[in-house]
Amino acid sequence: METITILGATGSIGQNTLNVLSRHLDHFEVFALTAYHRVDILLKQCAAFKPRYAVLHDKIQAVQFQKKLIQLKLKTKVLSGVEGLCEVASHRLVKTVMAAIVGAAGLEPTLAAAKTGKKILLANKEVLVMAGELFMKEVRKHHAQLLPVDSEHSAIFQSMPKNYVCGEKPRIVQKIILTASGGPFRKLPLNKFFNITPSQAIAHPNWKMGKKISVDSATMINKALEMIEAHFLFGVESQEIDVVIHPESIVHSCVQYVDGSVIAQMGNPDMRTPIAYALAYPERIVSGVNVLDLAKISALHFEKVDHKRFAAVELAMDALKKGGTAPAILNAANEIAVEAFLNRRLDFLKISDCVKHALKKIKITSANTLDEILKADCKARECAEQFIVQKG
Ligand code: NAD
Ligand code: MG
Repeated sequence: METITILGATGSIGQNTLNVLSRHLDHFEVFALTAYHRVDILLKQCAAFKPRYAVLHDKIQAVQFQKKLIQLKLKTKVLSGVEGLCEVASHRLVKTVMAAIVGAAGLEPTLAAAKTGKKILLANKEVLVMAGELFMKEVRKHHAQLLPVDSEHSAIFQSMPKNYVCGEKPRIVQKIILTASGGPFRKLPLNKFFNITPSQAIAHPNWKMGKKISVDSATMINKALEMIEAHFLFGVESQEIDVVIHPESIVHSCVQYVDGSVIAQMGNPDMRTPIAYALAYPERIVSGVNVLDLAKISALHFEKVDHKRFAAVELAMDALKKGGTAPAILNAANEIAVEAFLNRRLDFLKISDCVKHALKKIKITSANTLDEILKADCKARECAEQFIVQKG
């Protein structure tokens, strides 16, 4: 049996992971499930999968949750806080860790998994954006296995030469091509961008995802994060990454080879495919995803990115060129700006401005240690908050 911890089990990726796992309980054993606060969902998951551990953020909530589990005669032990997350991510009995917490909160437990040589299924792209160099160094040092879950990166990984190991660009690969749906506002007139509401922004045309990544997709900052993620996963520089708009979200991304071949991975926009691929790699397992009906789709479209509409792609190029703590600053300022937008404290259009402001204001340093990264993260959050107070 392969033991698995799911960090962020109650989220969109977490629930999809359990959906795939429920089809393969003869092979996988759920070791731990973690959640921030959606206790009702976590309770149902504990009853269904009977993990050894559950982790909640808050200590008091964890004590109450433990009592509920005992009433239900469940043996799951409840832990709390970052220490609890790190414990279940690095436990000696765990083989595989699904990293599906959203944002910077996932960094420490995912690093703990890397430092104990786990098989890491990485959905939490912010880990690589914040601390790509450090994280990849720990992965290599401790012989952890890294398998991307983000659909584009899974597609690239699936299109790489056989036995490819994340970290470096093979010589025969010329470029990678990241596809982007363009989100819900691909066709919205530019003069209507200023009054976009949170509910419009989280209504993605093709994918059902958590709120933060849905807003990131609407601003296309998600693509900026994914370019940085690709840089660390596949060893490509910004000029070796092309972004192309593909509104149908069927071609999930491509690898361009020196001989002119372009290998792509296709499928319905359903995260259970990349999750199943990462879970079973190098095998393939049933995921529950509907078969792709190309005749029904009939046409696939590709367009250039309109940089006036989506300034974020250039922000990523800029942060990658600057290096050091620049991506961590971009990430932290974005997290604060998105939260403020969802709470109606900041206009949609000012999300990118806020990120740009933080990147300009904060001194970029090297990002070799967790301390340097967390300091930059903290400064960027303060700087973004000031921007929101002044300009929100
Ligand atoms: P979500 O908001 O649906 O779920 C996030 C999970 O993280 C929840 O279980 C929540 O309880 C937990 N969490 C949130 N804040 C936390 C904190 N401070 N401490 C501990 N746990 C915390 O998010 P999601 O859409 O599932 O995305 C998860 C990650 O996967 C993100 O990094 C996202 O960019 C990435 N991703 C998601 C999708 C998708 O389809 N949803 C696709 C590609 C990549
Ligand atoms: Mg993606």
